[in-house]
Amino acid sequence: SDQTQMEWNKAPCRFCGTGCSVMVATKDNQVVATHGDIKAEVNRGLNCVKGYFLSKIMYGKDRLTKPLLRMKDGKFDKNGEFAEVSWDQAFDIMAEKVKAALKNHGPNSVGMFGSGQWTVWEGYAASKLYKAGLRSNNIDPNARHCMASAVMGFMRTFGMDEPMGCYDDFEHANAFVLWGSNMAEMHPVLWTRITDRRLSAPDTQVAVLSTYEHRSFELADIPMVFTPHTDLVILNYIANYLIENDAIDKDFVAKHTNFVKGAEDIGYGLRPTNPLEARAKNAEKANTWEPYSLEQFAEFVKPYTLARAAKESGVPAERLEKLAKLYADPNIRVMSLWTMGANQHTRGVWVNNLIYNIHLLTGKISQPGNSPFSLTGQPSACGTAREVGTFAHRLPADMLIANPEHRAKAEKIWKLPAGAIQDQLGFHAVLQSRKLKDGEIKFYWTQVTNNMQAGPNVMEEILPGWRNPEAFVVVSDVYPTVSAQAADLILPSAMWVEKEGAYGNAERRTQFWHQLVKAPGDAKSDLWQLVEFSKRFTTDEVWPAELLDKNPDFKGKTLFDVLFANGKVNAFGKEDIAEGYANDEADAFGFYLQKGLFEEYAEFGRGHAHDLADFDTYHNSRGLRWPVVDGKETKWRYAEGHDPYVKPGKGFEFYGKPDGKALIFALPYEAPPEAPDADFPFWLCTGRVIEHWHTGSMTDRVDELHKAVPQALVYMHPDDAKKLNVRRGSEVMLTTRRGEMRGRVETRGRNKVPQGLIFVPFFDAKRLVNKLTLDATDPISKQTDFKKCAVKIEAI
Ligand code: SF4
Repeated sequence: SDQTQMEWNKAPCRFCGTGCSVMVATKDNQVVATHGDIKAEVNRGLNCVKGYFLSKIMYGKDRLTKPLLRMKDGKFDKNGEFAEVSWDQAFDIMAEKVKAALKNHGPNSVGMFGSGQWTVWEGYAASKLYKAGLRSNNIDPNARHCMASAVMGFMRTFGMDEPMGCYDDFEHANAFVLWGSNMAEMHPVLWTRITDRRLSAPDTQVAVLSTYEHRSFELADIPMVFTPHTDLVILNYIANYLIENDAIDKDFVAKHTNFVKGAEDIGYGLRPTNPLEARAKNAEKANTWEPYSLEQFAEFVKPYTLARAAKESGVPAERLEKLAKLYADPNIRVMSLWTMGANQHTRGVWVNNLIYNIHLLTGKISQPGNSPFSLTGQPSACGTAREVGTFAHRLPADMLIANPEHRAKAEKIWKLPAGAIQDQLGFHAVLQSRKLKDGEIKFYWTQVTNNMQAGPNVMEEILPGWRNPEAFVVVSDVYPTVSAQAADLILPSAMWVEKEGAYGNAERRTQFWHQLVKAPGDAKSDLWQLVEFSKRFTTDEVWPAELLDKNPDFKGKTLFDVLFANGKVNAFGKEDIAEGYANDEADAFGFYLQKGLFEEYAEFGRGHAHDLADFDTYHNSRGLRWPVVDGKETKWRYAEGHDPYVKPGKGFEFYGKPDGKALIFALPYEAPPEAPDADFPFWLCTGRVIEHWHTGSMTDRVDELHKAVPQALVYMHPDDAKKLNVRRGSEVMLTTRRGEMRGRVETRGRNKVPQGLIFVPFFDAKRLVNKLTLDATDPISKQTDFKKCAVKIEAI
């Protein structure tokens, strides 16, 4: 290609929560190349293999370009074939279904599922449309499956979400502990920073804990494969070790922490009729705790001895002791890192709390290199799902639906009447599927996610709901995914640099990009879809008469008028768009919608320790880490000298809690809901591979990535293969209590699994491993456990 004809612009990578910046070359309305951005602090010019192929993800042959509705004899028919319709026809039937649902069944009969792949303003607009416009809190992101346990871990321990540290910790730490994270494949560019540190700074140690050996073990000084769920035992053992060896920072603990005891026997979030749920004695107390003392805590963790931890986890005692010493030694700066292994866990919130315990007991927190760091999967899991508050129980800036003051604040910023937001919590992800199946949700819209492949127990709990004749299901996507094929209406979406966007990565860094090319055919951004759809409703059709009688000014207006053409949202004109950039949404609505939405959204957090910079600043930077106060980003929260919200003289202040003190939780080991037995003798663990993003809908359409890993393999121990009389490449049938799947055996390669466990990635749309998984959730966070259930393997 003639390079003189290309234009280069920056954008964050479309895939993972690392948030690498890339340089994007466009020519003739097409992305023709990308490379890692050398000016970016996050990745310093590097990308992983997915990032290197970003330029190809938009150009799969089966890109969706027209709305498609299931039709028979020229009319919508749930069992009809997909046929092209116009956007008008698509919105007509959607509006008809929503109005009928609201009229006959109330606001809880409509729902939406999104993800941390929404841009900041898309998630914000979706949340506003549902929570304030349609008055339904039934909107939840795929992030529920991904890091809801991390959120609840933060909220319980610190009273505020998201990490206190940042990626600069990688160059300050001299020990890295991976608690259920395969960073080498899932956060590869951050892994290069750990590798650099390990190879260049003498005495740096890496400890890796997982239920099987993966690529991150190649760098491990302390490799540890543990029996599923016993991370709870190991974490309590470390707390016990710290106390017994006088390694706690007594001054820090006295000044900055309180001890509490959490409730036990809290269940698994399954349907109450499921026999596995029978142990839930205290489900209603799941997220409660009572005061405790250091002495009581010491007694509580005392039974978690080294011998017990070694026996139950299967990790050799000397390795566990080495691990405990990393935390105990005051001269070692420790960064703990975790993702799905800790979060996708029926006691995921507890695992998060127990990791914080160790850092709080030793005072190893909020300082360069001393950093409990929760990583995220999706590119804007933090920026959109968490900060914007697209969860069924949340509002922007950590505010909660359940709190009347928070609702009142949102109504004020949104310039809406008091009472516009309902107080009833919405349905979380797994509950949405159950409510569709049970016929309670009548209208359901998903954007930027593929739950028919990524959600748990697909055949029993998701597909029946989507195909329920009582439900109308809309999927906005860029390709005909498994979800799109199961829908009633498919809407073609614009993606990545076909629209202007913003993402927030795992270190609180907000990053912007401009629209660089036009979307193909009639594909439109998710933002345009949400805002244009809002024109189909007048307040009289969707708000109760009492609300309008008290607020007659709102009568007869459209939801577009009151949500998107009101106040700050339409305050900026097209002249505010930086010269030379397209903006299809501004062209459609006549104002700079993204800027207005962002500035309105930013009002929620400013002055409340979630401060964002102004819109234009982000376009001119490689992102900034919030809170951004007086133009300065914050690297280490809660620490004096780094965080502007910490009062002078305090040293540290966990100001999310009323007394500024973080909580240290006494929480026990509890068994998982389903474990191998005579009928289903293996553990099944699911996850990702480096070459594919999530359900593979983008990366599997890139030839190079597809050829590199064309199918999901069943990773198995060679001795288990021998016993089953199968070998590498043999096809096997996997069966659980919920479904079955065929797959080919792999006994070598990147994963070395222990006997009695198999690992199967979920990117492969032809082999849906989530037909097998259990829809058990952490009862506090409602996050699914995709890492363990019981499976049978048979040769075929
Ligand atoms: Fe970076 Fe993640 Fe994109 Fe890879 S997928 S280039 S690590 S942001």
